[in-house]
Amino acid sequence: MSEPADTPCARFGHTTVFFGDKSGKYPDGNQVIVTGADTRVAFDSPLVANRIGEPFDAADYIVQGHIHEDHITGWHRVRGIPVHVHDADLDAARSWEGLGRAYGLAPDRLPAMRAKIERQFFYEPRPDAIGFADGAQWDLGGGVRVHAVHMPGHTAGHCVLIVEPDGVAFIGDIDLTGFGPYYGDASSSLVDFRRTIARLPDLPASTWITSHHRGVYTERTRMLDALAAFAAKVDDRRERLLEMLREQARSLDELVRIRLIYPPGYEDVYIDDAESHSIRMHLDELVANGVAQKRDDGRYALR
Ligand SMILES: [Zn+2]
Repeated sequence: MSEPADTPCARFGHTTVFFGDKSGKYPDGNQVIVTGADTRVAFDSPLVANRIGEPFDAADYIVQGHIHEDHITGWHRVRGIPVHVHDADLDAARSWEGLGRAYGLAPDRLPAMRAKIERQFFYEPRPDAIGFADGAQWDLGGGVRVHAVHMPGHTAGHCVLIVEPDGVAFIGDIDLTGFGPYYGDASSSLVDFRRTIARLPDLPASTWITSHHRGVYTERTRMLDALAAFAAKVDDRRERLLEMLREQARSLDELVRIRLIYPPGYEDVYIDDAESHSIRMHLDELVANGVAQKRDDGRYALR
């Protein structure tokens, strides 16, 4: 495999990581390529896939950790090769209608979102994407294997992909960034994301590769520290939401306007919907725990 001179990369056994801009900070990402004795596999295809040439373009197939616009930007380069996607993200891979449902955008915002991702991320669907389930395995030859661990929350089908025998885990958008976990889609789940974070330390891995910004962790203690800080962002959001409700009872729409996840004034086509899904999940949790209640006028109040 040829390594492009102008893209930083690092090798971990049979796995090569090509780093996107700013270690793959969104909208870019980090491209993972795994090479066995007879097969080369790409995990996802972030924007950097469009800059590295042969290492990505000559992959035999793609295994997706999940489906989001910034992880499928290289599909247009390799239309003939198989794309494997967890069953719960399969509709999002196969059609724009499926992706739109997974995002859960308001119908009047869908055309603008499609135009944006076609322009910025080379978006096109893969009607022939192949589904897989938790525990799926791929044999790359020479004793190199990949297996999928279903770890939902970010999306319904989000998986960690583990390369054996090297103990390399591609943890995707459990990305350990300072932003914290993203669960702003209709297909996201805060409950599942909390469970996924709790399970991450138990994976059989000694190298952890993130899709965005953090890059690679090779020391378990550093990864665990980053994971704890990442998880704490969820509790920070919960506390801020409680503070907003302590001031006065508020409707979901009012809370979306105030903003919980993104800074006030930050605008993009999907932000209101992402705020709405995220806040609703926190409200559901507060109601389920008996901390808050939904009043007859639709506003949420502390109990
Ligand atoms: Zn994502």
